[in-house]
Formats: sequence, C-alpha cells, structure tokens
Amino acid sequence: MSQFIFKTNTPEETSIFAEKLASYLAPNDLITLEGDLGAGKTTFTKGLARGLGVSRTVNSPTFTIIKEYKGTTMPFYHMDVYRLEDSFEDLGFDEYFEGNGVTVVEWAHIIEEQLPPHRLAIAIFREGDTNRRVELQPLGDRYVKICEEIFS
Ligand code: ADP
Ligand code: MG
Repeated sequence: MSQFIFKTNTPEETSIFAEKLASYLAPNDLITLEGDLGAGKTTFTKGLARGLGVSRTVNSPTFTIIKEYKGTTMPFYHMDVYRLEDSFEDLGFDEYFEGNGVTVVEWAHIIEEQLPPHRLAIAIFREGDTNRRVELQPLGDRYVKICEEIFS
C-alpha cells in the first residue's frame, strides 16, 4: 500500500500543506485524521477549511460531533467523533459523505465500520515540540492520484 510522508516544523506549515491539499479536493471527498491529542488534527482541518474558502472560524467540534461550513464552491463538514458514546451510533454520517461537500473526520477509527472504503487516511505524529510527521495513506485510485500530484 502506498504511503506519502510530509514533515512539518510549524503549525503554519501544517496549515499551508492542508490548504494545498484542499485545492485538489472535489465534492464527496473524505479525509480521515488520526493522531494523539495535540498532534495537529484540528490545525490541519483549519488549513483545509481555509483552502476551501470557508470564512467562518473552524473550531474543534468536540461537543457537537458534526459541524457544517459553507465553502466557496461546496460545503465543508467537520466531524470529531472522539466523544461518540458508541461506535455504531449512526448520526447520519452517510448523508454527509454523500452530501456533495468535503468531509474531514477526526478520530475516524472510532467509526471505522461506518466509513466508506475510499478515502484519504492521514495520521499525524508528534516528533518534537513543533515537529510533526504527517503520513498520508490513499485508499482508492482517486486519492492515490491526488497524493502523487501533491508530492510530484
Ligand atoms: P488535535 O486536533 O490533534 O488535538 P490541535 O490541532 O488542536 O490538535 O492542536 C495542535 C497543537 O500543536 C496546536 O496548539 C498547534 O499550535 C501545535 N503545533 C505545534 N507544532 C505544530 C505543527 N507542526 N503542526 C500542527 N500543530 C502544531
Ligand atoms: Mg482536534
């Protein structure tokens, strides 16, 4: 399975990388984010949102689980399923995945069984105070192409 690695040394670099990724995304694309608390999942998400033209401030939706934003050409759905009580609880995720926007899911492994098979799985690892290793694993041809273009 292919994997792409991006090293970042500041929150801004992480955000700019995510913003670049956003320019390759289209309606119904799905990005999953894994990583410990403070790894940078929400920082990454904010960059993505900016890249999609979301003007509202994106915060961690810890208590709401799903937040919806308006982007320039499509909606942006931000999910943080960390506090979901039961991994089989279905909050209508499919309607978002098929809702013609871009969806980002923090702590996605919690709802693994409910995720579509094709997605861009991203894991962020803390390697120092402000150093992070971002691992991108594309699941499906479309995401392989996106990664190849970004890293070419
Ligand atoms: P998570 O959503 O994974 O819990 P956050 O994005 O909310 O993480 O928090 C990450 C924290 O780490 C922020 O305070 C951010 O400023 C800091 N940070 C330091 N270096 C980086 C980096 N290279 N990339 C992303 N965040 C970083
Ligand atoms: Mg977060």
